Amino acid sequence: MMTANEIRDSFKKFFESKQHAIVPSAPMVIKDDPTLMFTNAGMNQWKDIILGTRDPEPRRRADTQKCLRVSGKHNDLEEVGHDTYHHTMFEMLGNWSFGDYFKEGAIDMAWEYLVDVLKLNPKDLYVTVFEGDPKEGLERDDEAAGYWLKHVPADHIINGNKHDNFWEMGDTGPCGPCSEIHVDSRTEEEKKNGPTGRELVNQDHPQVIEIWNLVFMQYNRKADGSLEKLSMNVIDTGMGFERLVRMLQGKHSNYDTDIFQPIIKAEQDITGLKYFTFEEEANSQEPIAKSQEDINVAMRVCADHLRAVSFSIADGQLPSNAKAGYVIRRILRRAVRYAYTFLGQKDGFLYKLVPTLVHEMGDAFPELKAQQQLITKVIKEEEDSFLRTLDKGIGMLNDAMDKMKAESKTELDGVQAFRLFDTYGFPLDLTELICRENGFTVNEEQFNVEMQKQKERARNAAAVENSDWVTVATTPSDSSEGIEQQFVGYDYTEYNCHILRYRKVTQKKNEFYELVLDATPFYGEMGGQVGDAGVLCNEAETIEIIDTKRENNQSVHIVKQLPKDPTAEFMACVDTDKRNASAANHTATHLLDYALKQILGDHVEQKGSFVSPDTLRFDFSHFEKVTDEQLREVERMVNDMIRQDIHIDEHRDVPFEEAKKLGAIALFGEKYGDKVRVVRFGPSCEFCGGIHASSTGRIGFFKILSESSVAAGIRRIEAKTGKECEELLYQLEDTLKAVKSFFNNAKDLQGVIRKYIDEHDAMKKEIEGFQAQAVERAAQKLVETARDVKGVKVITAVLPMAPAAAKDLAFKVRAAVEGSLLCVIGSHDNNKPQLSIMMSDDMVCDHSLNAGQMVREAAKLIQGGGGGQPHFAQAGGKNVDGLSAAVDKVIELAQL
Ligand code: ATP
Ligand code: MG
Repeated sequence: MMTANEIRDSFKKFFESKQHAIVPSAPMVIKDDPTLMFTNAGMNQWKDIILGTRDPEPRRRADTQKCLRVSGKHNDLEEVGHDTYHHTMFEMLGNWSFGDYFKEGAIDMAWEYLVDVLKLNPKDLYVTVFEGDPKEGLERDDEAAGYWLKHVPADHIINGNKHDNFWEMGDTGPCGPCSEIHVDSRTEEEKKNGPTGRELVNQDHPQVIEIWNLVFMQYNRKADGSLEKLSMNVIDTGMGFERLVRMLQGKHSNYDTDIFQPIIKAEQDITGLKYFTFEEEANSQEPIAKSQEDINVAMRVCADHLRAVSFSIADGQLPSNAKAGYVIRRILRRAVRYAYTFLGQKDGFLYKLVPTLVHEMGDAFPELKAQQQLITKVIKEEEDSFLRTLDKGIGMLNDAMDKMKAESKTELDGVQAFRLFDTYGFPLDLTELICRENGFTVNEEQFNVEMQKQKERARNAAAVENSDWVTVATTPSDSSEGIEQQFVGYDYTEYNCHILRYRKVTQKKNEFYELVLDATPFYGEMGGQVGDAGVLCNEAETIEIIDTKRENNQSVHIVKQLPKDPTAEFMACVDTDKRNASAANHTATHLLDYALKQILGDHVEQKGSFVSPDTLRFDFSHFEKVTDEQLREVERMVNDMIRQDIHIDEHRDVPFEEAKKLGAIALFGEKYGDKVRVVRFGPSCEFCGGIHASSTGRIGFFKILSESSVAAGIRRIEAKTGKECEELLYQLEDTLKAVKSFFNNAKDLQGVIRKYIDEHDAMKKEIEGFQAQAVERAAQKLVETARDVKGVKVITAVLPMAPAAAKDLAFKVRAAVEGSLLCVIGSHDNNKPQLSIMMSDDMVCDHSLNAGQMVREAAKLIQGGGGGQPHFAQAGGKNVDGLSAAVDKVIELAQL
């Protein structure tokens, strides 16, 4: 039996033998595409090629791509764990042809691989073809059906509708008809007694499932819904690796293969619970109990989600409370919930499975191995913090249920259930489960209403509307390598250009335009470096470019208004002050990265970077605080490299592998093309597409402002360079000058300030001593004035005194008086009245008096309020003139 790793290799080998270039997987987390957060199919990384904005060579490629289907158009999250063939993260094996072979080649190769190489039984294979759609003006894909007939009998070819057999990446973008290959993996007995495989295709039968989809990309879906033909035909295929492995290993569940079994074994060892494989379930004498089924689902959920979360972290996406980070956090929390509820795991659990995952997959995906420590730490911290929230939520739910019991209610209202969901991450099913166990139900309808309201709020906040592109001109056909736009920003800051196309974008009622130029010196925001600003001008007009972003490998210029004549020739001019400042900060970031690795160690990995004209921010993996001494060392090393004025050594269009040989540092989770740019400043050598200073001397000076923690295992450094440092120095100098002048420009400033502080402390102590003595004397005097009323010593006084001293005084009086006491002190300080009541304990017990109640009543006379304990209470107020009346009122209330 082939192992999973052998099967992965055989796929690559087969397509290599068919002249395909074997390419690496793109990162699963997408950083620079506003339309997609995660890679959901193998073709995502080739979107630019398919749309004609990137060089298509080599035209035949194959790979295994890490995919995640948890948001947007492809979202399988809710199925995962409940069925046995959908995952959140999975590997998609794919082969591509960009204007090379088309339908016939793709169909023949797929068949050859499955039947001749892997020896799947043709009797078990069914294929689908697109039946056509009159509304779109599309006919049945007779062409594909014809090629299939070479391999399978007609009754193994099934027509499919637009939903199943017309593949679209998203609401807009490349699309086309497709043919899927389905496998009937039922047992021989089931096949004999049940319906035919043909009848079960696309019917959600867990043993008759799609394994490979061959997409024949011919169209581009535009924002207005219409289809436009692509300039070349593209083959895009995707085969679920885990499903293929299951078929070849003769299993009936993806989780019974050697991809998942080691993880499930670790889960069993840790929990002491048993997982039932498909066979064990089928051969079991008794039906599987519901509680055992819950355990099975939970173990599948955890095994699956462990992969999704670990790979995301390795790709640089940490769990957080926004965007992609939030999606990852939700996946992790879903796993924690299942482990908590069904596997009895009240403490962190998933992080304990990381070693097994790394052991199994670390060879095929070295990013896992290299970052095992970080992955473990991040998962554990997330688990711990969510388990704390879970506890709090359960506490809140218990309170709600107690209240319902007291009010004889049986239904939890939906608003409360929604609050649990919103603030504690309690999904409805968990709330329902806990309620059910306690004999309550949940108002689901109300919950859904709240949910809907929130979705609408989110939609309104985020809505961005893009109109279709309006073409102004097309690129001359001799432009290099079929690339639409020429980027000249590494060499120029001004360049002659034409507008190729523009579109209108509406966001929260704001309107602006996006322009694509045929040639541009403008750098579009990427890799943490902000985009260029500047102008587009000619003799007739000047248009301000407020920002530049990057989309599909091109700079997209953002302007508030369109030029009057978009077809005219323009000069595109970058604002060089800003550009030079951010270039210097970017170069400083490289030097910082280098210095951190030298001083802290090789475990330092870049985890985020932001570079703008006035600041730089650098996030990196490191497991403890960087000490002040280490920060100084880093600064000294960077500034030393600045003074050496090292010139940039830049290599463009270097093949990826060659760049690695140059010793360039590639980032995990970054998407690189076949050819990359390498930027070297002396010993610092990185893969980088950014704009840099021509030599390190241009940075001027480097200074770290702060070092802090941003997440488990991730530190952040903020720093400034050049002119910004100059300003910083002036501020410090001014502050120091001012401080010196307070101390008569003393030479030994630190010594003088130290002396002042010591003197101040001594004086403070002395004053406190005097005050205590004064209160002591006042207490003695007061006690002497005590009147005896029916055996109770009654003391009243109105004095100037601070509130704290009045309290002190009251307690001193109580300590000095034996027997029953009622002491009422009216004090005032800065025109603010204060009323204090102190009694002996027997006054509370025997006379049923309560100082708190009395003070509230009497404080009305000083226009105030307060409270306290039964034997001592205080109230403040606004009206000093009412103070003696308030004191009398207390005595009256006591009714002695
Ligand atoms: P299904 O109908 O089974 O959800 P799909 O139509 O969504 O599949 P495609 O988008 O065509 O699948 O993806 C190509 C291949 O990727 C599928 O044939 C399948 O083998 C695999 N695949 C798709 N979704 C998943 C998933 N969530 N987990 C594992 N494999 C998947
Ligand atoms: Mg699907």
